[in-house]
Amino acid sequence: EATKPPVEDITPNDVFIAVKTTKKFHRSRMDLLMDTWISRNKEQTYIFTDGEDEELQQKTGNVISTNCSAAHSRQALSCKMAVEYDKFIESGKKWFCHVDDDNYVNMKTLIKLLSRYSHTNDVYIGKPSLDRPIQATERISESKMRPVNFWFATGGAGFCISRGLALKMSPWASGGHFMNTAEKIRLPDDCTIGYIIESVLGVKLIRSNLFHSHLENLHQVPQSEINNQVTLSYGMFENKSNTILMKGAFPVEEDPSR
Ligand code: UDP
Ligand code: MN
Repeated sequence: EATKPPVEDITPNDVFIAVKTTKKFHRSRMDLLMDTWISRNKEQTYIFTDGEDEELQQKTGNVISTNCSAAHSRQALSCKMAVEYDKFIESGKKWFCHVDDDNYVNMKTLIKLLSRYSHTNDVYIGKPSLDRPIQATERISESKMRPVNFWFATGGAGFCISRGLALKMSPWASGGHFMNTAEKIRLPDDCTIGYIIESVLGVKLIRSNLFHSHLENLHQVPQSEINNQVTLSYGMFENKSNTILMKGAFPVEEDPSR
């Protein structure tokens, strides 16, 4: 991956970054993103949420009210992903990248990574959270089911899809189709994306170690490599905070997420 040469010159304006959030996290999570990476990338960042918030609206241009429920249900989260997909298609941009509201995005390395691929090819890139394909049951009809296995990129680490591939996903992802597809396998939104790409379209996930969720031990990202990562995250694991190791101007007490 590191040795692959660039094949396409792209700029931040070619990328559509969708951030999934919910009203209760606007202050605790979104304000932090506004103060850090989003402030430098306002034009290409689109925030998908479920509740009105003037304070958020004033800080950035692209806040999209999804009309999806604020519940943490599979349906509510799929509803948001469906809106993200539709807005990306509408935007005409070359790359769709999804992140959660507890992700940090390094736009410079993201552009560097994506420029190694052509946006007209079928590209799905991210990091799987499991070490094997997920095993699911696809509902073909009322009475017919079949087992399916596929890899998917964890939504919590962020992932990207080329426009070429996104257009092929349309019959299963656009309009109301994403929700129907999600109901066929009854798994979370990021799994549904993997199902459409790997199982339905037969395109393989490209694994990248540059995407990071708080499901992995973030202490293990070498300090000298932090600047080269595409996404980072923070969270709690077994009652201890799971963050990157970062020396800097702000002590842990002032900046617990690093
Ligand atoms: N989220 C949401 N609605 C909810 C709860 C969470 O849209 O009711 C979003 C949240 O803003 C985040 C993502 O779903 O972008 C994952 O949530 P969280 O980080 O709380 O949980 P995790 O799955 O990482 O443990
Ligand atoms: Mn999270």
